[in-house]
Amino acid sequence: MIAAEAGPGIRLFATAARYVQGPGALAEIGKHATGIGTMAFVLVDSYLLDRVAPVLKTSFEAASIDFVCQGVASEVTDATISLIAREAPVGIDFVVGIGGGKSIDIAKGIARQLDVEVVTVPTIASNDSPVSRAIAIYDEHHQLTEVTQLKRNPVLVLVDTEVIANAPPHFLSAGIGDALSKHFEVQACSAAGGITMQGGRGLRIAAIVAAGCYEILRSQSVAALLSLANGQIDGAVEDTVEAVVLLSGLAFENGGLSLAHAATRGLMAVSGASKRLHGEHVAYGLLVQLAVMGDNDDAILDLAGFMSDVQLPCTLAELGADSTDEVLQIVASRTLTAPHVKNLPAPLSLDTLVDAIERVEALMKAASHSRAERPRNHSL
Ligand SMILES: [Zn+2]
Repeated sequence: MIAAEAGPGIRLFATAARYVQGPGALAEIGKHATGIGTMAFVLVDSYLLDRVAPVLKTSFEAASIDFVCQGVASEVTDATISLIAREAPVGIDFVVGIGGGKSIDIAKGIARQLDVEVVTVPTIASNDSPVSRAIAIYDEHHQLTEVTQLKRNPVLVLVDTEVIANAPPHFLSAGIGDALSKHFEVQACSAAGGITMQGGRGLRIAAIVAAGCYEILRSQSVAALLSLANGQIDGAVEDTVEAVVLLSGLAFENGGLSLAHAATRGLMAVSGASKRLHGEHVAYGLLVQLAVMGDNDDAILDLAGFMSDVQLPCTLAELGADSTDEVLQIVASRTLTAPHVKNLPAPLSLDTLVDAIERVEALMKAASHSRAERPRNHSL
């Protein structure tokens, strides 16, 4: 469900009210939540509960905010959200979701049901969901059933980069994939005159943010992954996390999505690829989007080279899938069922999309052959 669309000619921009990021930010949650209310219901990924609870206690007590904390290990289903919402303490002013995704989406779902504000605290940076209104709802078998929306964005997003730095690095790689596409998707949506996720035409700010997000990722994210591998949280890490969580979220909600995200629907339907992270699907989908848009080989190879440097998949095989005609037909036909596929300058046919996937696969194969024949003189 998308909020009621703004009238023709109306442009709109909406965002999380406050975004806080840095090492140790979690310990400041009480300070930044001051003014939202005096009673919080906190949902934390179960495995983090023991580590997080003492920090919350100190911080919320100092800010005179009462809270009840509960561990969450369930799938994000309508049934889970309704069940936990019924167990919520009476009189809560806001819900807090702390975790890798499930707790955040369950917290958003409960906030929506109870019509209260939500605070998000991501513990990995694998996508931009924490700043957005979107709630991904699944069934018991982890099949996506619906993406529903909060009425308003989270009132506070708090990103502790010390916590993010402790997560396995492939999560940040996936986040880079999810964010990398926004520059191209916002351009495509704008060219198509599409409606954004906020229900209107984008203001110029979305394209400006998306371009800035892309520039930061291209210039900083390789260094960021190296820093994290060396146990350092430096400027490159902070810039990359900001691009992945904040800038990417601002860009897609206010600028619109396109083929790169539509392709996630196709890739989720294919054995092997279905288990990979959202941002990995988006990254491959972006290569296909460039091929559909008629970008030249050099532009596609340039992006793919960068994607390899940040450990993102560039082929169906690297996503764990086959590249048979049957698989290509499934990926393409499912992709065309996604609403974002309309946000392209020209209507997309099944044959054109299959041709684009084949072109990406062939380009990557040729590139890997030429790389194999050439001694590498540097390593990233
Ligand atoms: Zn995404």
